Amino acid sequence: MPQQRTLTVKKGQKTYTRTLTSQTTEFTCQSCRRKTHREHFPGPTPKYCAMCAPIVRAEKNAERQATYREKRDTALMLETLIALTSATEDARR
Ligand SMILES: [Zn+2]
Repeated sequence: MPQQRTLTVKKGQKTYTRTLTSQTTEFTCQSCRRKTHREHFPGPTPKYCAMCAPIVRAEKNAERQATYREKRDTALMLETLIALTSATEDARR
């Protein structure tokens, strides 16, 4: 059953109101390759079925967190190295 959602957009002084109606789209899940359908609001076609979507989301989150941690640790290590190097150079003077 299509659902409706009202969207209010403020652009400068003007405010626009738009009603979005959900639609059911049939697509192939990019994870399990099963043909499925999902109800969604206008925009890109969903990539994953209702079963796979939460799993894929959790996997992507874990991946993103791992990348973040790695970058943060590398930055910390570099900062420490730079601090140590300059401290050593200061001591030599
Ligand atoms: Zn799936």
